[in-house]
Amino acid sequence: MRITAAILPDTGAGIEVREVELAAPGPGEVLVRLQASGVCHSDLNAVDGTSATRCPAVLGHEGAGVVEAVGPGVELSRGTQVALSWMPSCGRCEECVRGLAHLCRTAWGAMSHGGLLDGTPRLSWKGGSIYHYSFLSTFAEAAVVPEQCCMPIPDGTPPDVAAIVGCAVSTGIGAVWNTAAVRPGDRVAVVGCGGVGLSAMLGALSTGASPVIAVDLSEQKLAMAAQLGATATVLWAGSPEATAEAVRDVAGGGVDYAFEATGRAEAMLAAFLSTRTRGAAVLIGISRSDAVLPLPAIDFPRAERRVLGSAYGSVRPERDFARILRLHAEGRLPLDRLITHRLPLGAADEALDLVRTGRSVCAVLQPACAPPQPSLAGEEGVGRAGV
Ligand SMILES: [Zn+2]
Ligand SMILES: [Zn+2]
Repeated sequence: MRITAAILPDTGAGIEVREVELAAPGPGEVLVRLQASGVCHSDLNAVDGTSATRCPAVLGHEGAGVVEAVGPGVELSRGTQVALSWMPSCGRCEECVRGLAHLCRTAWGAMSHGGLLDGTPRLSWKGGSIYHYSFLSTFAEAAVVPEQCCMPIPDGTPPDVAAIVGCAVSTGIGAVWNTAAVRPGDRVAVVGCGGVGLSAMLGALSTGASPVIAVDLSEQKLAMAAQLGATATVLWAGSPEATAEAVRDVAGGGVDYAFEATGRAEAMLAAFLSTRTRGAAVLIGISRSDAVLPLPAIDFPRAERRVLGSAYGSVRPERDFARILRLHAEGRLPLDRLITHRLPLGAADEALDLVRTGRSVCAVLQPACAPPQPSLAGEEGVGRAGV
């Protein structure tokens, strides 16, 4: 079938929105008609080369939509609303077996090849391959993805909220709930108030942490953090040391957990220096692969300060997406308020620019195509030429 997609022709190039060919789902794969796709900082890392990405590629790794067709062996029904996870864990590798499915070796190993789990792409144009990004490629009207990526969600879940739960929200909230296991009364700081950082902040508030201190370079982001419930805000004070001192003052002597969501070494250092005795810096942001983080060594044995890494919020999508969306539906996680921009698919470049310049918190692309109606979902190729 032909779909419209936003393509990154090469690292550093501008996005081209045009038609591509999408093959039918193979065994264990699902065709999802996309309703919304979040634009995450990792997409930007692919554009600017911070993370090496095989091109040409269709970016986008947080999306939500409706199952339109399934390949052999897939039990999902057509018409099921799904949020997409970019981690199709295998369940059999060493990491999966020891309960670290978000670090699945099989999936991480396959990801950089730009194909699906069998290593080959379903996207092409005029005989040439177009590669997938993180198994999903959601900057498109539709995607073929591994079935392990599809998390059924309640009918009526807003697609834009479901989309951002697929990465930014789960990465932030999961770092709080899973990686750190924050408890009521823990003191928390969040350094970097983009979509991931503010999600971590909402996650901390949901656990009863107090205070919850937002730290950022931008007064505007801090104002948004305050509106979302931050108990205090600290403007970046020009250096990691000065910023950490301000955080420790506000926290009454340092925080139990300082979440870092920028990927910058000075923000990581500020997070570490903000912690109290036995406190932990929780590093979420993606740095360049050659970045080095110098830390005061004496703090480890003397104060039992710690550093925890958090990948994808140590998330278990089948458990955590549902938990997060339930709290959202109950009004206890105002995720919709993280979405500052909604744009058509054709404005993918503009959306990336909003993320690049920090003007957006979460920007969501909405493909113009309407999803198939649930009542018609069982019919072959409903309303779509070329399916
Ligand atoms: Zn695995
Ligand atoms: Zn992401």
